[in-house]
Amino acid sequence: MSIVTLEQVEAQIAHRFALLRFKPEIELLFRQDYVAERNRLIGIWAVIGLLIYDLVYFGDRAMIPDVLTEVTALRLLVFTPAVIACAFVVRRWPSSRLYDALSVLVAVLGVSLPMAAAVGSQSSYLLIYQNYNAAAFLFFVIALRPLFPAMLAGLVLMCLSHLSAVYLTGAFDAVTFGGIVTFYMMLSIFLAAAAYFLERTDRRNFLNQLRAGLLYRRLEVNAERDELTGLLNRRSLARIGREIWNRGRQLEPPVVSAILLDIDHFKRFNDLYGHMDGDACIRTVSQHICATVGRANSVFRFGGEEMLVLLPGQGSLQALAMAEKIRRAIEELAIPHGKSDHGVVTASLGVASAMPVQTEIEKLLQRADEALYEAKHRGRNMVVISEEPQVAA
Ligand code: GH3
Ligand code: MG
Ligand code: MG
Repeated sequence: MSIVTLEQVEAQIAHRFALLRFKPEIELLFRQDYVAERNRLIGIWAVIGLLIYDLVYFGDRAMIPDVLTEVTALRLLVFTPAVIACAFVVRRWPSSRLYDALSVLVAVLGVSLPMAAAVGSQSSYLLIYQNYNAAAFLFFVIALRPLFPAMLAGLVLMCLSHLSAVYLTGAFDAVTFGGIVTFYMMLSIFLAAAAYFLERTDRRNFLNQLRAGLLYRRLEVNAERDELTGLLNRRSLARIGREIWNRGRQLEPPVVSAILLDIDHFKRFNDLYGHMDGDACIRTVSQHICATVGRANSVFRFGGEEMLVLLPGQGSLQALAMAEKIRRAIEELAIPHGKSDHGVVTASLGVASAMPVQTEIEKLLQRADEALYEAKHRGRNMVVISEEPQVAA
């Protein structure tokens, strides 16, 4: 699926679409949706359409018995296989242009084949007989429902082929012929107007649905992301943490490691430089944790200046190495901290690993927290790994 933003969709809604066309990226999505929707119904419409079309055999037999063989052959040997082939082609190669082109083809064939037979008939019921084609017009607009340009082209071509056949029968005087022409013109104009407004409604519904989906997605992302750092927030840990935990079960080795990090002497940093600089420091440190870990979808802001990294499929040795890399990266940022032990901002990290089949994620986090506490206790700016229980790397 191509990417459109909420802003693009809202701009399109505001911009309107009187010409029944969206901006290219949205139009592409609309057409994908359109062809999928039509394809879903194509089988059922083909069956209903063909059944009715071929049942008109009884009408043919009553009204144009002198050309019954021709008209029956056209219905069964030309139209029926043509419709089946078209339905197959559209399902096999779904494309809005192809669907529209084949809809027009089917509609024009449907209208003109029986009339081609009727041209050779001497029947006195031709006035009633040619009325049947109004049903084909309705079927085209209500069931096949191509996009508006194809709809217009189809209606024009159907009118032309129907009226020329009616004319060629030579069965009608000028007034009757004029009446038939007027009837089909009016029918086509009403159907075209209805089709225009229906497509506009379809398009508006599509935009609203797209907007609702994107809005929901954005709310979901906003609800799971921390505003200051862009990291996943504590709330999201319940869902995403659980996912990572479950994923860990299927990995080799089937372990999950946790690195819990806390910036050292951060109260003092705030006191010395103010909260604004404190915020900027948290943001910078967070970005560097993500860059070091290499993926943002498993780094959480656990608390004020505490971050959590979850590493599915990575054992304690790998996690230890990663924690040390993070510790060094933060130290090397060299953010001045006049009241720390090293003159720059540093962090302490606790590491723990566990097998999801053996324990719970809460236990893992608790052990990482204890290891972090130990790192603080031993003098900060260091990594401590929780010893128990042993997990192979
Ligand atoms: P320690 O080395 O033991 O961790 O010392 P510390 O001063 O960092 O202690 P602690 O972790 O308990 O303190 C965290 C401080 O972080 C308290 C709070 O003022 C500050 N803090 C928490 N969240 C934010 C935030 O969003 N922005 C800023 N600027 N400060 C925050
Ligand atoms: Mg701290
Ligand atoms: Mg803290």
